[in-house]
Amino acid sequence: MTTAQTRELDVQPTPLALLLLGREADPRSERGVECPGDLPSPSDPDLVERARAAKEKLGDKVFVLGHHYQRDEVIQFADVTGDSFKLARDAAARPQAEYIVFCGVHFMAESADILTGDGQKVVLPDLAAGCSMADMATAEQVAECWDVLTEAGVAEQVVPVSYMNSSADIKAFTGKHGGTICTSSNARRALDWAFEQGEKVLFLPDQHLGRNTAVRDMGMSLEDCVVYNPHKPNGGLTADELRAAKMILWRGHCSVHGRFSLDSVDDVRERIPGVNVLVHPECRHEVVAAADYVGSTEYIIKTLEAAPAGSKWAIGTELNLVRRLANRFASEGKEIVFLDKTVCFCSTMNRIDLPHLVWALESLAEGNLVNRIEVDKETEAFAKLALERMLALP
Ligand code: SF4
Repeated sequence: MTTAQTRELDVQPTPLALLLLGREADPRSERGVECPGDLPSPSDPDLVERARAAKEKLGDKVFVLGHHYQRDEVIQFADVTGDSFKLARDAAARPQAEYIVFCGVHFMAESADILTGDGQKVVLPDLAAGCSMADMATAEQVAECWDVLTEAGVAEQVVPVSYMNSSADIKAFTGKHGGTICTSSNARRALDWAFEQGEKVLFLPDQHLGRNTAVRDMGMSLEDCVVYNPHKPNGGLTADELRAAKMILWRGHCSVHGRFSLDSVDDVRERIPGVNVLVHPECRHEVVAAADYVGSTEYIIKTLEAAPAGSKWAIGTELNLVRRLANRFASEGKEIVFLDKTVCFCSTMNRIDLPHLVWALESLAEGNLVNRIEVDKETEAFAKLALERMLALP
């Protein structure tokens, strides 16, 4: 993002954000795999033309998916844009596309592999594009948690509900234990369904979406929720606390949405009188409680589409999307600013840049299948079960 662009949105670049954007500057989120080929230089003036030519050569054999939070330089080559679940379904609806190039993060590519046909191969242009939230719940940690619930005598009453933003292993765990997947659009319906099946919910991995849905949408109290911390013995909870709780929230969060604070809301209301605060439910509970509107990225886009000319909006979600929406609606007289004063990208999503996309497309055009994301059959079967339960939600 250029200085002019950040000024447009009334935000300040921070050294931390810029550090995170540097390739290999955030080794803790690396999946330990380097791209095996020669990446084109980011300064190659022909990158756009090279991507266009490779895509044209592949024709209907390739289908490029672009998540809402991707950079503009990548989004321009997407055949469709959307959230992770919509994109996975779009890919499944294009069986003629042998290669699905997913410009998103690792768990999204896994979901696409689960939902697409056997003949379709999913490619993630940079294997280091993980999701810090999904990484906060590993299969081993969740299996250990289930043992703790069993010891406390509550496992039989618990239905797991896992957010789409989780690894294939966690989705498979959920399917195996009678649970469902949810998105930020249908979390309420998923929880209603889960409480018809059992008395308690284990919500993975985003504590904020779980808490916000239970308290804001379903009228539970904050005391009905406990937080299971996988880094503490027994999750940091006593058996009595587990027995009393309705919502057992996994201690995970999104590092992007977790940055917004009550101060961000107070500050923007002071700076822009009459502003509407619209935030994603992955934000902290106090931010959601102070906002005027709360909803998924699709809800955010639809709300801004329907907003009257002259209205003012502060948006609490990823900056690439907010910047695109600000540009898109400026001509309609809608003023859209980023909720926080500092830059807030999804640093792992930003690893998918034009050089990686060019490299992936050119490799495929030359007949080399690179960076394939493939979920093993057993994991896929149980994960699919959990996803099918979501699709069957009333
Ligand atoms: S925005 Fe948050 S939840 Fe989404 S991919 Fe990035 S870290 Fe994960």
